[in-house]
Amino acid sequence: MKRMVEEDPQCVNARDGAGYRALQWAALNNRVAAATLLLDSGSEVDAGDNEGQTAMHWACVRGALPCAELLLRRGANLNAADSRGYVPLHVAAQYGHTGMIYHFKMRWNVDVDVTDLDGRTALHWASYKGFPDPVKLLICMDADIYRADKEGCTPLHWSAMKGKSEATHLLVQAGGSSVLTAVDVDGNTPEALATDKGHHSLAYFLHNQHKQLSTRDHFWTQKGMAVACLSLILGLMLGFTHYVMFASGVATMDVSLAFWSLVVLGSSSAGLYYMRRVSNADPGFVTAAALSSLRRGTRPSSAANDVDDRLNHSELWAGNWNQLCVSCKLVKPFGTKHCSMRDKCVARFDHYCPWMGNTIGKRNHRDFVVFLILESFAMVVAFAVAVVRYGEESPGEKYRNNTGILMFAAFDALTLLPVIMLTISQLVQVAQNVTTNELSNAHRYSYLKSSDGAFVNPFDRGSHLANIRAFFFPSKNAPLIDDIAAGLTTVTVDRTV
Ligand SMILES: [Zn+2]
Repeated sequence: MKRMVEEDPQCVNARDGAGYRALQWAALNNRVAAATLLLDSGSEVDAGDNEGQTAMHWACVRGALPCAELLLRRGANLNAADSRGYVPLHVAAQYGHTGMIYHFKMRWNVDVDVTDLDGRTALHWASYKGFPDPVKLLICMDADIYRADKEGCTPLHWSAMKGKSEATHLLVQAGGSSVLTAVDVDGNTPEALATDKGHHSLAYFLHNQHKQLSTRDHFWTQKGMAVACLSLILGLMLGFTHYVMFASGVATMDVSLAFWSLVVLGSSSAGLYYMRRVSNADPGFVTAAALSSLRRGTRPSSAANDVDDRLNHSELWAGNWNQLCVSCKLVKPFGTKHCSMRDKCVARFDHYCPWMGNTIGKRNHRDFVVFLILESFAMVVAFAVAVVRYGEESPGEKYRNNTGILMFAAFDALTLLPVIMLTISQLVQVAQNVTTNELSNAHRYSYLKSSDGAFVNPFDRGSHLANIRAFFFPSKNAPLIDDIAAGLTTVTVDRTV
């Protein structure tokens, strides 16, 4: 190339029949050295082909980031539009190059809402093509999710029409009811377009989401099962008092049995106190503003929602788009998950518990486990007391009076079984300092994998005792996002235990 350029310096800007130039081919194939030579020899950085596409457009086709960066440093125009109005960002979105989109925004502050001649943005294109990562990133960069193109179609119309499931889920999660009900120029909702194109399961999902979102925040949706759980515990306490403690036809309890009966009622009541705490607690909601201030080490400022403040993150520079939450528009710390029921990100998310009517996370997990222990203990003792009471009946009376005691014992045992299994599994997880979500979805999280793909747990303190101690007796003012969750420390082993 060097010799050719020396022999004919004009060749660097020569075009073939389609108007393509050497610089475009170098950009397409990410040939940084060749592109440097061409630029040094006078190649025009923003020269377009017959369709007006520049070398930068071509670099975006294959995600040739090093070459794109070279072009930008040599003055390439990120707003150069081709004959259809596509700027390089549109092309990067059309081909699913998330890293390129990220780079353009973070380093070159590109406008993510710029439209082509049909009024479509990069988010329209990523949704149309069904690339989940660019969709995720663009939403987090505050791309307009409600933007309608010239046909009145939002990005969700396009993903639904093309049957792109992941993109559709993300757009619904981020946009809620308003994107579901948006209509195009012909009056079609995304659901109608999905049905029309034969994407029936997607249409069903959209239909269902509309129903679910409209009732999600209602009291009975959130707390209905918790009321049932409360009634069950109160019912057991009442049943124990009526059928066991004061069973008709059975002698009054002796002191030791009376003591254990009071233990049952006391433990159950204490459990209810903890249930109330779990149900009403902030389980450890994570907000973008709090994360920004944590990283800056200052109080939240007005700049807390700025894209750069939220998204300039080592996980994203490393291409780990899984850590993005499109609802909260933040980079989730390790162990943080978005709870669809509460519609917020929760630190050390364990699971959503309908029986508590709340998410179980960092701030209420301990109370939840204490609740389980207290209720399991109460039910075990209640069962034992019932068995003893049954034995106390005089043989002649047994068949007349024991029905109540037996019924209680059977009901108590049936309820106890799932509760004690849950308690044991929770305690095992506490000893390992791993959450239910991490155990069931380990494959999704890079921080739970070692370099050879084996399971590693960065939260493990090195011994079961250390994990249990830290869980039940956390240090005062323990931060919501500790260094491990923030990715600052990989393993902390407590050597004092
Ligand atoms: Zn979230």
